[in-house]
Amino acid sequence: MSYLIKNAHVITMDAVSGSEPVRRDIRIVDDIITRIEPTIDAEDGDTVVDGTDKLVTPGFVNAHTHSWETFYKGRYDNLPLELWMAKCYPILGDSRVEPELIKLRSTLFAIESLKSGVTTLVDDVLENPGQDFDQLSAVFDAYERIGVRANISGHIISKPFTDTLPFMDELLPPAVAEEIRGLAVPTAEEYLAFSRQAFETLDGRADGRLRYMVAPSAPQRCGEDVLVGATELAREFDAELHIHVLETKTQLVTGTEKYGTSLVAYLADIGALVRNTTIAHGIWLSPEDIDLVAAAGASISHNPISNMKLGSGIAPWRQLLDAGVNLGLGTDGCSSSDSPRLLDVVKATALLHKVTGPEFSEWPTVNEVLHAATLGGARSAMREASTGSLEVGKQADLVIFDLETMAFTPRQKLDHQLVYSENGSSISTVMVAGRIVVDHGEVTTVDETAVRAEMSERLTELLAWQERLDGINEVFTEPFTQMYRRAMATPTDIDRFSGHVHA
Ligand SMILES: [Zn+2]
Repeated sequence: MSYLIKNAHVITMDAVSGSEPVRRDIRIVDDIITRIEPTIDAEDGDTVVDGTDKLVTPGFVNAHTHSWETFYKGRYDNLPLELWMAKCYPILGDSRVEPELIKLRSTLFAIESLKSGVTTLVDDVLENPGQDFDQLSAVFDAYERIGVRANISGHIISKPFTDTLPFMDELLPPAVAEEIRGLAVPTAEEYLAFSRQAFETLDGRADGRLRYMVAPSAPQRCGEDVLVGATELAREFDAELHIHVLETKTQLVTGTEKYGTSLVAYLADIGALVRNTTIAHGIWLSPEDIDLVAAAGASISHNPISNMKLGSGIAPWRQLLDAGVNLGLGTDGCSSSDSPRLLDVVKATALLHKVTGPEFSEWPTVNEVLHAATLGGARSAMREASTGSLEVGKQADLVIFDLETMAFTPRQKLDHQLVYSENGSSISTVMVAGRIVVDHGEVTTVDETAVRAEMSERLTELLAWQERLDGINEVFTEPFTQMYRRAMATPTDIDRFSGHVHA
């Protein structure tokens, strides 16, 4: 199969033109971009696409998300991370989610992602309680069928959940504390064996489109044996290690209380901060932490919409870039942001960091934001050699926007309009590995109507399950609220809230 896109406006994100639109023809043979030049003649068998009124961009990389949360879209509001987790990641009383339901969940998530131009997902998949191999395989099955590119994790929390939070010894009723300590958590041996099996049997499926990644939930949620073992596996298989670090002030306080140091310094000390490491969030980092991340060549996935919704704080965007840290952009899960549309995150990123200070030379540029949404994310996913920009030899992962739309009328600077005017509604075609997976705005690989109907059929059962879990986990509301207030009142050297206006 070969395509020739003629006379298109193209944002390549390559080292020469970055986000500056250029007029190009693009030839694609099977899954590979074979030529990008001002003029290319069609060859026999080429399907020619007229690009005159089209903008072609690299497929977007969602560098941090959780397909698990799709079932919670639109369910909770005005809860900080720790209280929200007690709902969305129910600590008590969960039952195993069956693989068929996981396939449905992943498919719903992938449909919405692809239709909004996301071609690569970094999907940190958590199952509660614990994740078994059939559950993990179900995500691979769903993504293989729908045609998205993805890193898919085995996620692990290897400590009783309340041991990962500050002040719990004082605040948690003893009976609840005992019940939680009685819940089984996976051991390092179990997780590392599970991950090795995943690398040996699932990693690389669909011609390398799907990869396994290790994902210790957070430094404070895992033992050192898990963190060190997972890092060794990531290096052995040249894969991503995905980990949540310093998303909230509570976590900063936790690091001081339990480790006597910052959680970033702790990861660096034990050798878990490496090129393969992607830190999700990285908000409450000190200047010394930022230097450690940069020196390790690790990445940070920035999730401003989730961070705003959960009131987590504002990541130090300019300080991270100035230090040389590679940045990707993520939506986070569909409950903390309620949408997998990365273009929303692109716009939020470009806007949010303009109100963190008056020095306009430090505000995010269109090129920086689009780089994070494409090549930066690809690098964080250990995939920059194959995706994230439109360059000869790379996989044909691309999005075609129709310019005959309101968002692009009048046509000014197309890269600026992509960031500030467009939200995905102008997308006509999405290609992953040279295969058209969205055509005229509709997914080609699955029947969306049937998938939504299946969700509707199961909705009553889903809502009843969630109601029941909300009830069981209500026991955490009071102690977590007290814990949260105490953590917020704890003095720290840095402040990542925007509330100085009250001073
Ligand atoms: Zn997350």
